[in-house]
Amino acid sequence: MPLRAKVATSVSRTAAALSRAAGRGDGSVIGGWIGLKIDPDLLGHLAAGRAIALVSGTNGKTTTTRLAAAALGVLGPVATNSFGANMPTGHTSALAKAGATPFAVLEVDEHYLTRVIEETTPRVVALLNLSRDQLDRAKEVAMMAQLWRTALAAHPDVHVVGNADDPMVVWAAINTAHVTWFSAGQRWLDDSWVCPECGSAIERGSASERGPSEWWCTGCTLRRPRPQWVVEDDGVVDPNGDWHLVKLQLPGQVNLGNAATALAVAAEFGVRAIEAVPRLASVTSVAGRYAQVERDGRTVRLLLAKNPASWLEAFDMAEDAPTLLSVNARDPDGFDTSWLYDVDFSPLRGRPVLITGDRAYDLAVRLEVNDVAFRHVQTFDEAIRATPPGRLEVIANYTAFQDIRAELDRVN
Ligand SMILES: [Zn+2]
Repeated sequence: MPLRAKVATSVSRTAAALSRAAGRGDGSVIGGWIGLKIDPDLLGHLAAGRAIALVSGTNGKTTTTRLAAAALGVLGPVATNSFGANMPTGHTSALAKAGATPFAVLEVDEHYLTRVIEETTPRVVALLNLSRDQLDRAKEVAMMAQLWRTALAAHPDVHVVGNADDPMVVWAAINTAHVTWFSAGQRWLDDSWVCPECGSAIERGSASERGPSEWWCTGCTLRRPRPQWVVEDDGVVDPNGDWHLVKLQLPGQVNLGNAATALAVAAEFGVRAIEAVPRLASVTSVAGRYAQVERDGRTVRLLLAKNPASWLEAFDMAEDAPTLLSVNARDPDGFDTSWLYDVDFSPLRGRPVLITGDRAYDLAVRLEVNDVAFRHVQTFDEAIRATPPGRLEVIANYTAFQDIRAELDRVN
């Protein structure tokens, strides 16, 4: 590395360590920020000579990154931004901290994917899904798909690992020379009814020869490609047709899909599924998500739901047990809560439902419209007291999740 990059790396590490020592989180954002101030090309310098996988999409990228890093661990130490710092400052910090590891798996905010591909020249880019995020800030889904498509066209050597079930992902990657398709399912369909290629309607159904997850455009040739990695029962089928039982410590079909993606990514580095699968079980929680905490005889499990698609996924992961929903609308959440009406809360009918958070009343109205009975509680402790001993599922959006995590002493 050039001298300037070496100095920047060293200062970046020190700044991150100081920030950690001061109890200000893991320091990766400030460390990366300072490093990039000293050497604006630092990310590129740190990426040079490493085999890198980038993981992007609206939902599931933190978990999938963690699973893929675990799978790649078969080959040795893997650099990764495990605290969800998914912009270039976080990537810079992760690589600076990792030293000379030859492999890296980096979670990338979907808005930054183009820039991070430019700077890191990855071997693999995994594209998970695209759906509406916080309403008052996210780019439109079709615009994001176009950005991805353009970025991939400019980097034909990148190997894409893409979700065959999401028409937006397929359209973004379909012209790429090297693609591996996986099927992780798509619960949220409302951002992909219109073909991004020709504007015609997209149809889905089980009538076709290929099963219930088939989709096709009614006006052009865009249709679901045949996936090489598929979730089947409680396991994953690899491209050779071999089925692997996947035992995870993470709940839900959604995470089996994330596991399939991680295995597909690892395979691009020469890691065989049979070697990678046992390592996936080492992932227990991801930045507090899925963490289980005992509190006064209740087993509390934390699920993060930050946009409509991830609320549907959280309902899939949560057991049929008392459930606390918490919604805030602070800056990181977006101020607009009209997305509540995009989510069908009816899967919660019949469960004891508690609600809290800054915008509990918005949630109350939504639940009433959806005919879901609920009780309002002021605090997390009140929710605990209102729940019988046993399991309590907690589903919260971003800052609400952080609030509850802080109450539980920042569980990992
Ligand atoms: Zn079309």
